[in-house]
Amino acid sequence: MISEANYHPSTEMLKKFTAGSLLSGLNVAISAHIELCETCRHKTSKIEAKAAIDWLQTNDDQKQNDFSGLALDIVNQPQIEKPREKEAILDQIHMLDHSVSLPKVLAKAASQGLVWKQLGGGINQALMHLDDETQCEFIYMKPGSQTPMHKHQGSETTLVLDGSFNDELGHYQRADFIYRTEKDMHQPRSEEGCLCFSVLDSPLTFTKGLARLLNPFFKYQFRRSAAGRGI
Ligand SMILES: [Zn+2]
Repeated sequence: MISEANYHPSTEMLKKFTAGSLLSGLNVAISAHIELCETCRHKTSKIEAKAAIDWLQTNDDQKQNDFSGLALDIVNQPQIEKPREKEAILDQIHMLDHSVSLPKVLAKAASQGLVWKQLGGGINQALMHLDDETQCEFIYMKPGSQTPMHKHQGSETTLVLDGSFNDELGHYQRADFIYRTEKDMHQPRSEEGCLCFSVLDSPLTFTKGLARLLNPFFKYQFRRSAAGRGI
């Protein structure tokens, strides 16, 4: 299950992750990457240890406030539901000729049920609802497929779960964590096929050829999935 990743979340992102200040979609992507990446697991433990030391060095009044806040947080916690017995956890996704084991955090999220939809060009998508601000999805690229050239209005986070893909900036395989911002324009393609988990915080904009005609559709789709989640 452990692979050596070449692309990792930034230190800044891991700090936000340990502080719990990221949106759920991104949180799940980082958590799944950490499950697959020993380097980031160590880094995250160090960040947590440093945060604990920093806290111990703060003045006593601040600590008192933190303790009161913590006590209040505990009191305000919703009752944790006991897991239902025999609750089905989807821990594998079945591809054409093999199965892919999912990191635990994704297996749990995917157990809400995956509905696959063909987007054309050998690209398949299964949307998941993890929070109201991001669009989270599994993307399966068939061998030899490529997405249209596109850029982002916001960020796009991609975690590779199986196979590999390339774009203008690199070659990515299992456990790699790729973060693209609105400045980046790229065209992912996959020779051997690829399963990814991806988090978008705004719609894609296609920049070339006929795919530009898809823009209204993709915006509509994003808005619709956002509307479906009550935002
Ligand atoms: Zn890593």
